[in-house]
Amino acid sequence: MLELRDIFKTYDNQPLLRGISFSVAEGETVCLLGASGSGKSTLLRMIAGLENPESGRILFNGLDLAQTPTHLRDFGLVFQDYGLFPHLNIFDNVAFGLKMRNLPAAEIFLRVAALLEKVNLTGFEKRKVTDLSGGEQQRVALARALAPQPRLLMFDEPLGALDRTLKESLLQELRSILHETKIPAIYVTHDQDEAFAIADRILLLHEGEIVRAGTPAEVWSNPGSAWAARFLVAGNIIEGAVVASGQVKTEYGVFTLGCSHRHAAGEKVPLLVKQSGEVGEEIKFKVEDVLFKRDQFEVRGEGLVFQLKQAPAVGQVIKVKVEVECLR
Ligand code: ADP
Ligand code: MG
Repeated sequence: MLELRDIFKTYDNQPLLRGISFSVAEGETVCLLGASGSGKSTLLRMIAGLENPESGRILFNGLDLAQTPTHLRDFGLVFQDYGLFPHLNIFDNVAFGLKMRNLPAAEIFLRVAALLEKVNLTGFEKRKVTDLSGGEQQRVALARALAPQPRLLMFDEPLGALDRTLKESLLQELRSILHETKIPAIYVTHDQDEAFAIADRILLLHEGEIVRAGTPAEVWSNPGSAWAARFLVAGNIIEGAVVASGQVKTEYGVFTLGCSHRHAAGEKVPLLVKQSGEVGEEIKFKVEDVLFKRDQFEVRGEGLVFQLKQAPAVGQVIKVKVEVECLR
C-alpha cells in the first residue's frame, strides 16, 4: 500500500517536514493530526503529486511514485471547500472522473446512481451545486472522489466548514463508507475530536516530525510527551521534582511514578495527572469554579481541571482519584 520514507521539505529556509515516515495499510484510515501550519496539506500535496519532496520517497505497492504524474496515481482528494464544479449539476460532478475515462454512458449512469445512494443523495442528480447545503456539497465531493474507485483517498480538513452536529453525522457516514469500500485513506485535521472519531490509527505531527503514532486509545492513554498531552488536553500537566526512586514531589503533594526511567534525585519532570476510576492516588485542591458540561461538571481549582459527576461547592477542598504519569 502507501508508504512514505523519510520525507523532508523546506520552505524559505524553514524546515517544515523533517523525516516523515509512515505507511497506510489496505482498508486502513490513518489520521494525520497536527496544529494549523504543521505541514499537513503539504504532505497530502506531495502524496498527490502536486508537489515534490526535497528528499525521501513515496511508494505505492512498493513502486516509487516520483515519476508518476498526479492524474495517473489513482488517488482521490476531498478538500474543505468541496472543490465542486459550480456550472455542472450533481450528476455531472460525480460523473466527471468516469467521463474522463471514457466509460460507456449506461455504466456511468448506474455508477453515479449507486454512489449517490451511498452518500444519501438519491434523486439529487439534476440539482445545481449552488442549491445544496455545505453538508450535501461535501457528500457530492465524496461521491465524486469515490467514483473512479481510487486506490487511496485523501481528505484535507473536509468537515472544517460544517457545524458540530453535521460534522458528527458525516463522520459516522464517512467511517462506514471507508470500511465498506476498504479504500485506504489519509484524513488530515487539526481537530482532535474529528481525528479520534474517524481514525483507525492516529499520527501526531509536531515540528516537522511524527511524535506519536497509535490507535486513538493508545495515543489518548499514553500521549508520550508533554506537548502531545497538552495538545490533546489529555489531563492536567504539572511539574514535579524527583525525591527518591519512584517518588515525585509536586505543589499538590507527593506521588508515585510508574515509569521505568532512572530519574536522579532533584530532577524536574513534567507529569500528566489523569482522573482514574477507583484505584489510584488522591490529589487535593480548593474548588474555584464549577461549570455545567452536559452530563458532568468541569471543576477548576489551583490550576487543575477535572470532570466530575457531582458538583462540589466553590471554596470546598476536594480530593480526586488520579493516576500520575511521567511525560519525560
Ligand atoms: P497545514 O495544512 O498543517 O495547516 P501547510 O502544509 O498548509 O500546513 O503549510 C505549512 C507551512 O508551510 C505554512 O507556514 C505555509 O506558509 C508554508 N507553505 C506551504 N506551502 C508553501 C509554499 N508553496 N511556499 C512557501 N511556503 C509554503
Ligand atoms: Mg492545511
